Amino acid sequence: MSNKSVAIVGAGIAGLASSIRLANQGFDVHLFEKNNYTGGKMTVYEQDGFRFDAGPSLFTLPELVDELFKLCGKNPRDYFNYSQHHTVCRYFWSNQKSVTITSDQLENIENIKAVFGEKEALSVKEYLIHSKEKYELTAPYFLEKSLHRRSTFSNRAVLKVIRKIPSLGIFRSMNSLNRRYFESPELIQLFNRYATYNGSNPYRTPGIMQMINHLEHGIGAYLPKGGMHEIAKSLTLLAKEVGVNIHLNTPVTKVCTKDKCFHSLLINNEYKEFDAVVLNSDVHHTYAHLIDDKVARPNRTLAQKPSTSALIFYWGIQKNFEQLDLHNIFFSKDYKQEFDNIESNKEFWVDPTIYVNISSKLEENDAPKGCENWFVMVNVPPNNGQNWSEIIEKTKEAIINRLSNELKINLEDLIVTERVLDPILIEKYTSSAGGALYGTSSDSQLSAFLRHPNKKLGGYKGLYFCGGSAHPGGGIPLCLHSAKIAAEWCIEDLVKETKSQGVDESLKSV
Ligand SMILES: Cc1cc2nc3c(=O)[nH]c(=O)nc-3n(C[C@H](O)[C@H](O)[C@H](O)COP(=O)(O)OP(=O)(O)OC[C@H]3O[C@@H](n4cnc5c(N)ncnc54)[C@H](O)[C@@H]3O)c2cc1C
Repeated sequence: MSNKSVAIVGAGIAGLASSIRLANQGFDVHLFEKNNYTGGKMTVYEQDGFRFDAGPSLFTLPELVDELFKLCGKNPRDYFNYSQHHTVCRYFWSNQKSVTITSDQLENIENIKAVFGEKEALSVKEYLIHSKEKYELTAPYFLEKSLHRRSTFSNRAVLKVIRKIPSLGIFRSMNSLNRRYFESPELIQLFNRYATYNGSNPYRTPGIMQMINHLEHGIGAYLPKGGMHEIAKSLTLLAKEVGVNIHLNTPVTKVCTKDKCFHSLLINNEYKEFDAVVLNSDVHHTYAHLIDDKVARPNRTLAQKPSTSALIFYWGIQKNFEQLDLHNIFFSKDYKQEFDNIESNKEFWVDPTIYVNISSKLEENDAPKGCENWFVMVNVPPNNGQNWSEIIEKTKEAIINRLSNELKINLEDLIVTERVLDPILIEKYTSSAGGALYGTSSDSQLSAFLRHPNKKLGGYKGLYFCGGSAHPGGGIPLCLHSAKIAAEWCIEDLVKETKSQGVDESLKSV
């Protein structure tokens, strides 16, 4: 067993995943989490007989979770199970149009044809083919590898991709690209919404982000058995089994360096030395509060626009709604104005797009009999000093009015329990700057290159970064990629260091 030790700061999904990778490699791994639970944004609330996944509700690329179990020689199915639900999402517009997207592409084309006509259905078919091409061309290099290592760019295949970049829609917005494919404003809006999957603005994010919808339409959306929180729960179990020492209720208050080398962490007023640290804490929080002043600030990275945040109402609803499914979207009338409002940090938007997630549609224990657990979310700007109690009150009223109209019912009378999460609380619980859900937005062509690298560059030793605010960005799949890139880089450096010190270790080769 190696005597090298690694500290991880933060037990979000990326912190957990990197701790597993490092412990499985034989290092002495200590994971420090300020909360009394693991999972970070992926946590759970239980209230009055209802269970709510507090954060993520859409699960794509489950094989990235499975990969961690397989890496440790375990059968993922002994820890964690998931299924693909036939209905992916029900979309509703206030002009009474509605369409259901399923996991069956042919059925989707028929559903779209029935509402928007044959020409639009054929355009969707073409659009989805192009989304797949963009995803398959770019993901292996721009999402699954570091953008800050020469090795990523030193093969012919990646040079071919770089040459193709101008034709991938990088110089037009997602909205402008979608307008080229579709005539119907509803379909433009439906495909514009994928910009929000990484907290971006479809009127600014480059058209290459068209590839995001391929994860859902092309590869598939899943739900873990027992709900989203099972992902964090099963990874926590795996981490313990492979020897990660998890320290809950343990905030790290300082990351100390000496001559550009990571040296120690300040924990409970005591300095603890490690050979390396992997920071899963938000990059802004890390530079503002943790890393000592001797370490150079990445000013261009820190000046990047944060992703959107959210207001979430967790409602126990005393009724079953046949017309709703697991994922439901009620679109606003004017999407452009909605995003202009978010962008200008305005106080309250009267007609927000409303996402309603109901896990009890699949997990009957998530709500008492005859009831449903509603996770009702609208996009909002990150906290910038707005009057959140007023925004919450007015937004709740707007949501209840809209949904009561759409569902022809007085929704307020059906709410039997309530909990609210806002940007201030998201920041308080996870230390994400302003309560941003996905780190920085992808609202410019350079966003991908300005995210924080997975290792502190510029001659520094022993400081690695993973999670939504580091490369390649937020959302469960990207956080898992970031954990893999950061952990493998750290392992590689420590193995090299061990060899150069001439110590015969039983480290596995990477
Ligand atoms: C409401 C909501 C809905 C979302 N929906 C989706 C979705 O449907 N699909 C999807 O894929 N993604 C979704 N996301 C985004 C996704 O949840 C995140 O991108 C991902 O979970 C972030 O993981 P992370 O590893 O960056 O860490 P985080 O979850 O941000 O956790 C970081 C951890 O570090 C800890 N920490 C910070 N500083 C310190 C310190 N100094 N000492 C000790 N511990 C510290 C924090 O307490 C926290 O536990 C959603 C997020 C939210 C909030």
